[in-house]
Amino acid sequence: MLNNKEPTKDVSKDDIKNKIPQITSSLNRVIKISKNISFGKKNIPIIAGPNGVESEKLMHKVAKNLVKNKVQIIRGHSYKPLTFPYRSKQYFETQDKGMDIMDSIKKSYGLKVVTEVTEIRYLERINKTADILQIGSRNMQNFELLREIAKCNKPIILKRHFGSSLRDFLGAAEHLIVFGNKKIILCERGVSIPHTHKETSRFALDLQIVPAIKEICKYPVIVDPSHACFWAKWVPSLTLASVASGCDGLIIEMHPNPKKSAVDPLQPLNFKEFNSLRLKLKKIAKSINRNIF
Ligand code: PEP
Ligand code: MN
Repeated sequence: MLNNKEPTKDVSKDDIKNKIPQITSSLNRVIKISKNISFGKKNIPIIAGPNGVESEKLMHKVAKNLVKNKVQIIRGHSYKPLTFPYRSKQYFETQDKGMDIMDSIKKSYGLKVVTEVTEIRYLERINKTADILQIGSRNMQNFELLREIAKCNKPIILKRHFGSSLRDFLGAAEHLIVFGNKKIILCERGVSIPHTHKETSRFALDLQIVPAIKEICKYPVIVDPSHACFWAKWVPSLTLASVASGCDGLIIEMHPNPKKSAVDPLQPLNFKEFNSLRLKLKKIAKSINRNIF
């Protein structure tokens, strides 16, 4: 007999009871990163940095700007999946060396580090340095990878696949809990729809998912507007809207010289844009009784 009595695209009462009971449990989940950084409380932490850990010089520049702006978490990947297989001459993965760079950044600036784990074979090295392990959207349902990452017992950012329903997204998060890890931060990063309003804009930011998740789930939800629209000029408005939607954190791509970014040069904000956005975000946060450092 088929067990899947009522397969649905969106979450049903039966799903909450039988398929995703733990991720939707009514216990309030705050994901603590350190003494003064938590996701799911009044303060909305910002995670910012370039796409890749391109060089030590770049990461020092970025870290200095973050510290100046009271941002406590730096992002940067050393192992990267690319949508297309051809790499620009500028682009190379720094891999283990990139993680050594992140180590020195941690020590020099006291920042927390987010790095994506693309494959199980890189996990050991990344886990030595990263404070938060990111599961990229393309790997949302790579359950073998999820299992190994869960075992590390570190906070995990689970990015929603761009073709995933809320139901499948929470299903993947439920797997992490079953694999033994409850330190889950859910991340919306844009979905594929037939049109995204401009040829340079690849996904549509689904902010509706923030209140939808909050209605049934007490885990923190963060938003990554940069990877959604791919178009730096639109990132500030989408970020402001993300905070207004009630999100618990943000991922923003930032680069001292976006044109020179080895990957997706149209996407990152430069320092000036980032710094002025942060000031505007503080006002929106205040208006809904939240806070941004
Ligand atoms: C990223 O964070 O750099 C990234 C590639 O994200 P996503 O998996 O959402 O595309
Ligand atoms: Mn990126």
